[in-house]
Amino acid sequence: MEELQKLLDQIIYDGYRLRDIALGIVLAGIFIILLRKLIWAMKASKTEEYSIRIKCPKCGWEGKVGKYARICPRCGRKV
Ligand SMILES: [Zn+2]
Repeated sequence: MEELQKLLDQIIYDGYRLRDIALGIVLAGIFIILLRKLIWAMKASKTEEYSIRIKCPKCGWEGKVGKYARICPRCGRKV
């Protein structure tokens, strides 16, 4: 009887461990996804901060360029 109890404990113990590992994997996955989103958001806001929307007076190109490199990518003119 004592052996059976031991065996049952072992199964429950192993079951918990397996569940913990699965939970850990799921949490790690969620964490990685959130971290990626956070990094992406940070990168996006940084790009937003250092870029401005311009319209080239020469060729009419419209779009975003770096704040400190205001050069039209189509005709190379400084704007
Ligand atoms: Zn241009």
